[in-house]
Amino acid sequence: MRCKQTGLIFFPAFDWAISPTHPEREERLLYTRDQIFEEGIIDLPQIAEFTPQLASIHDIARTHFCVPQVESQTTEAHLIAAGAAITLADQIVAGLIDNGFALVRPPGHHAMRVVHGNRGFCNINNEAVMVEYLRSRHGLKRVAIIDTDVHHGDGTQDIFWHDPDVLFISFHQDGRTLYPGTGFIYELGGPCAYARTINIPLPPGTTDDSLLYIVDNLILPVLEEFRPDFIVNSAGQDNHYTDPLGSMRITAQGYARLTEKLRPDLAVLEGGYAIETALPYVNMAIILALAGLDYSNVREPDFWPGRFKETSQRTEQLKRLVDGLLKHWKNRDTTLTGRGKTVNGYYEREKLIFYDTDYIEEHQTEKLRICSNCTGYLSIESEVSHGFGQAGKVLCLSVPFGACSKCRNEAADLYTGAKKSVVYNYIYLQDKSSDYLLGYDTKAGKEWRP
Ligand SMILES: [Zn+2]
Ligand SMILES: [Zn+2]
Repeated sequence: MRCKQTGLIFFPAFDWAISPTHPEREERLLYTRDQIFEEGIIDLPQIAEFTPQLASIHDIARTHFCVPQVESQTTEAHLIAAGAAITLADQIVAGLIDNGFALVRPPGHHAMRVVHGNRGFCNINNEAVMVEYLRSRHGLKRVAIIDTDVHHGDGTQDIFWHDPDVLFISFHQDGRTLYPGTGFIYELGGPCAYARTINIPLPPGTTDDSLLYIVDNLILPVLEEFRPDFIVNSAGQDNHYTDPLGSMRITAQGYARLTEKLRPDLAVLEGGYAIETALPYVNMAIILALAGLDYSNVREPDFWPGRFKETSQRTEQLKRLVDGLLKHWKNRDTTLTGRGKTVNGYYEREKLIFYDTDYIEEHQTEKLRICSNCTGYLSIESEVSHGFGQAGKVLCLSVPFGACSKCRNEAADLYTGAKKSVVYNYIYLQDKSSDYLLGYDTKAGKEWRP
């Protein structure tokens, strides 16, 4: 039997930071890297380190509508962080490694489909860019993304909300107590993808036992029925009991057991801000679990067994939550979704999005074309006002993988028609089924192909 090979990429992004004292900083990775080297993990035959390639502008534009252009929302660090996930995914799909862990920053899971700036420390959704790359370039059909960060992965949820082939499951600290304030049990996906979004909001103070209960009784049974070709773990380490932003009680051992059960093909680092007390232990435990190595000795210096216990009342509450969500999953193909309304053949929803880092307010009207032959294309009208007075409106048209020709033509006609419009500053067409991307600047009368 050959050794299990786990691929790693470390990318601390020395030249990128929101501000010099911001908690999302390069030291998040440097302490982990020191620990991995000191313990000799990097020299083990089961571990292989890789150098990241850059994600292309086209890879980003396949997933996001960056306003005005991809180049204005990304730095080289963003292209490397997303590119690291792609590099490891390529290796995994080719069978050269069994699994991988991209330890990169800046993080990505708060970046939504339309990008006007930075929200929750994220501009570009590294996992989503990698997933759309795999589907476009390697023809993968079904992908599951399990988000284990303490914050709700609202960006990833937004990108795959209408996609029945991407299962998104996020557990996180209850949105009533933490940024971004979303991720409730009733957020279950669009009309074509009902219960392919599953949110598990948890009360502050949740322990390893509760987390593992959710994995055993909800996440694993759902994964088994969904049968994904590829499992991604948005690996946020801010559920740790020492994290300065979260209020949970998860340990390095808890994270390792979680990883061992989930068996992700690729883990991509998201949050985690306890630089010295959590990240080196949690990341090392996850790497050992991925490589099939003994992680039982990885322990925080101040931890003792039995330190964190749930009350029986909290455990009962959790069981009811899991049972309720399982019911939605079981009824996924027979439930008519009631949230949003259908007007003239489009399913509509209004969204208000706040960019906490960049002080931008966005209002979206998202319309999904109801089609009997495919999952329908999306038309998104997005209007923003920046904190410093700039404002504008854009139109984004997105045609999904496997779209029918009627939907593809209709979206292309809408794009061409909108070019004469005086309402929009920019117009975008993203046809994933043919990997054909276009952008148009109405004031300059200029078109480009990202
Ligand atoms: Zn987080
Ligand atoms: Zn169609």
